[in-house]
Amino acid sequence: MPLPSRSVALHWFRQDLRQDDNPALSAAAESDALLTLFIDEISTGHRPRGGASGWFLHHALASLAESLAAKGNTLVILRGDPREIIPNLVSDLGIGRVTWNRRYGAAERETDAAIKSVLKTQGVDAQSFNGHLLYEPMEVRSQAGGPMRVFTPFWKAARATRPPHAPLPAPALPPSPDLAPITERLMLDELDLLPTKPDWAGGLRDTWQPGEAGAREKLLAFIEGGLDGYGDDRNRPDKPSTSMLSAHLAVGDISIRRIWQMVEMARTTGQTRADDGDVAKFFSELGWREFAYHLLFHYPRLASENYQPKFEAFPWVKDEAGLKAWQQGRTGYPIVDAGMRQLWQTGFMHNRVRMITASFLIKHLMIDWREGESWFWDTLCDADPANNAASWQWVAGSGADAAPYFRIFNPITQGEKFDPDGNFVRRFVPELKLMPAEFIHRPWDAPAHILARAGLKLGETYPRPIVSHEMARERALEAFKSLPPAASGL
Ligand SMILES: Cc1cc2nc3c(=O)[nH]c(=O)nc-3n(C[C@H](O)[C@H](O)[C@H](O)COP(=O)(O)OP(=O)(O)OC[C@H]3O[C@@H](n4cnc5c(N)ncnc54)[C@H](O)[C@@H]3O)c2cc1C
Repeated sequence: MPLPSRSVALHWFRQDLRQDDNPALSAAAESDALLTLFIDEISTGHRPRGGASGWFLHHALASLAESLAAKGNTLVILRGDPREIIPNLVSDLGIGRVTWNRRYGAAERETDAAIKSVLKTQGVDAQSFNGHLLYEPMEVRSQAGGPMRVFTPFWKAARATRPPHAPLPAPALPPSPDLAPITERLMLDELDLLPTKPDWAGGLRDTWQPGEAGAREKLLAFIEGGLDGYGDDRNRPDKPSTSMLSAHLAVGDISIRRIWQMVEMARTTGQTRADDGDVAKFFSELGWREFAYHLLFHYPRLASENYQPKFEAFPWVKDEAGLKAWQQGRTGYPIVDAGMRQLWQTGFMHNRVRMITASFLIKHLMIDWREGESWFWDTLCDADPANNAASWQWVAGSGADAAPYFRIFNPITQGEKFDPDGNFVRRFVPELKLMPAEFIHRPWDAPAHILARAGLKLGETYPRPIVSHEMARERALEAFKSLPPAASGL
């Protein structure tokens, strides 16, 4: 009897840079030899990644490569068009099975479908899995059978389909096949994901530990800390009350199902004092991520076109100076400036402050939301094609289930409500460090002696507001009234 031929599989890592609960990796690991692969994709029409998420990706890949190596497997890194790379590898290495976890953007889906059909003609077992979401976009439908447009019924329908699947353990890994035929392998550094001149990543290094171990640590710290009280405190940027898991979810160095399961377990075993309200609120935030992917899947131009077409007629203002002041955190509104500087320094911004800063750009400065979306895309470690676009459209009022356009955040009262002692502002706007809480969100109202005591010279050491809140509010409302009434975009 001839021995069965040695089976070789390929797992293609994309947004699933982990071994734990990785269904595609587990399926590929059933083979005798396993090629683990990351491709720096070019020529596929995908949106180029931003600087901060590139930095995060570098370190998440380094950590993945190390953990694979610990199990005797080598992560191969290549650059190019996966529609050519993968079929070539299949021929060169005699690969019989290719696996990946699904993506939901239009260009990515096209790429994956094209590869799948070539692999079929090569007689290869090509398998794709859900490794990114609790509920895939095609699983949740309205009663009429179409896509959902409103979050609450979406989340209710999703939860009603089934409970989230249990996560899988990390598989035992077979060794790599002979890699000699792969001549174009790159070193991680050759992806040029790290900033050098200048190295702006110091604050990112202090904030994040990319990779599975760092993600797991964040989750455990959240379960032991922020989850208890999350329902109320999640809006407080001055408190460490949210999970900071978003960047990890974006590269997939932690699985959404693992997060769900560990939070659920912590509740049932009494590991946390968080009440049902805290847990439900946290789960519903995970639900917003699911909803954003549902929207992206059904409306692929979410990052570039208004979901509600009537917003195409919006009279956006071209204001280079305003845009720059916003990007640099020099608008003269302390909560806005603190948020924008937090973003620049750490690659993160608290959700409440994202809403305030986005609203300021769109409504106070009347700058097109797409300018803000692309700035966040470049500067956020958690830059995510679905969450970023859906959230910007939510704030703009142009999205599905969006905040109404006439809801204009007041940056002064928002600051006073959610950063009542001013500690968040003091952390990121050192010019205001000595301002008392009473005036920290409105320094222009402070009497001269208080300004003098705080060493603050408005217009010199810290800018005066670049636009008046009352004037800006009226202007935005007028502009909104000029829009034609119209149905939504789907
Ligand atoms: C203008 C704007 C842009 C945004 N851009 C992004 C982005 O590029 N990437 C991104 O992951 N999130 C984005 N968000 C959503 C949200 O601000 C972040 O997910 C959250 O601040 C991440 O912090 P955390 O992990 O501590 O959140 P937690 O409060 O701990 O929430 C847990 C997880 O739930 C998800 N989540 C929470 N809030 C939202 C939300 N409003 N929409 C969708 N998912 C949510 C995230 O995956 C998050 O990690 C944006 C929000 C706004 C207003």
